[in-house]
Amino acid sequence: MRDFIGKMDMPLNAIVKSFRQNPEGFEVTEPRNLGSSKYSVIGVTDKDTETNLHPYQNVTYFVINRDTRRAAVIDPGIIGGVGVEKQRGYLAMSKLGIEQALYGVITHCHIDHWIGFKSYPDIPFYATQACIDTLNHGGEAVQFARGTLAPSHSTDLPPRVIEYAKSLKWDHQLTNYKNMLRGHQEDIPMDLLALPGQTRDSSYAVMESDGEKYLFAGDLFLDGGEKGLLIEPHYSQVDKLSVVQDTLIVLNGILGKGQEIPESYGGLYPDIYQTLTTIQNPDLIFLGHNTFDMSENRAAVEELAHGLKDILRHGQIKERHRKYMVCGLD
Ligand SMILES: [Zn+2]
Repeated sequence: MRDFIGKMDMPLNAIVKSFRQNPEGFEVTEPRNLGSSKYSVIGVTDKDTETNLHPYQNVTYFVINRDTRRAAVIDPGIIGGVGVEKQRGYLAMSKLGIEQALYGVITHCHIDHWIGFKSYPDIPFYATQACIDTLNHGGEAVQFARGTLAPSHSTDLPPRVIEYAKSLKWDHQLTNYKNMLRGHQEDIPMDLLALPGQTRDSSYAVMESDGEKYLFAGDLFLDGGEKGLLIEPHYSQVDKLSVVQDTLIVLNGILGKGQEIPESYGGLYPDIYQTLTTIQNPDLIFLGHNTFDMSENRAAVEELAHGLKDILRHGQIKERHRKYMVCGLD
């Protein structure tokens, strides 16, 4: 705990500045302050190719209560180091002056979104039941490594990552929530929502203050820069038009547009109308690999939604639709 002494009195900006001066292989975002609240979000990515997940490395977000210096961890994807206090996720947390992690959220079951959970001892992680089932399937740790190496990926994960994943057993509390979990956390209140995303078992987290809203959306879409926004769904046992429909429903939710929800959704997501209202019109979307500013980029989301709608209208994926996808859903 020695690392933390003195940091309580330092403003978060100063802490981040000093982290960046001695980054130890990490890339650290500027703190984003949610309205006038006491919460800030900082994204940390491991850029050290000896320890990271190569192109799969995600951004781990720390939602920090600046008064208490406690944090929630969204998508713990940083690995490396042996023993809790030597782990790189723990190192990143301590370099941010975080005294204690309170809980974590796993947005979906992909390896880059949970493999670093050992860095945050004794905290509960929240995930949908379907995600938990994937993580715990048959108690076989090997399942950890599966569901991640999609056929569309041309690069494999480094073998050391697979070996590490196989050695893992969940010893943390994994807590599911049926549909919505609202503000029960004392220090860092957040709404957790079950909705489809890159996988059907996805979780979203929402924080709001002073009319400003942050949405953590996992890998719902990717910002492909000049290519525009792309989707890369990883589904199994669902036909591809349902996948497109799933994504469109969530995008329309984000855009604040009413959408006719198919009857079949009633069973999967019982409170979907309320859920979609909760995610509508966020100011920032924290994605698995970058942060997306909605106020400046709403048109791009509209365009992606428009493209997906066009697919549904034609009942098939045509050549012109492929620009919206990393993989072609076939
Ligand atoms: Zn993913």
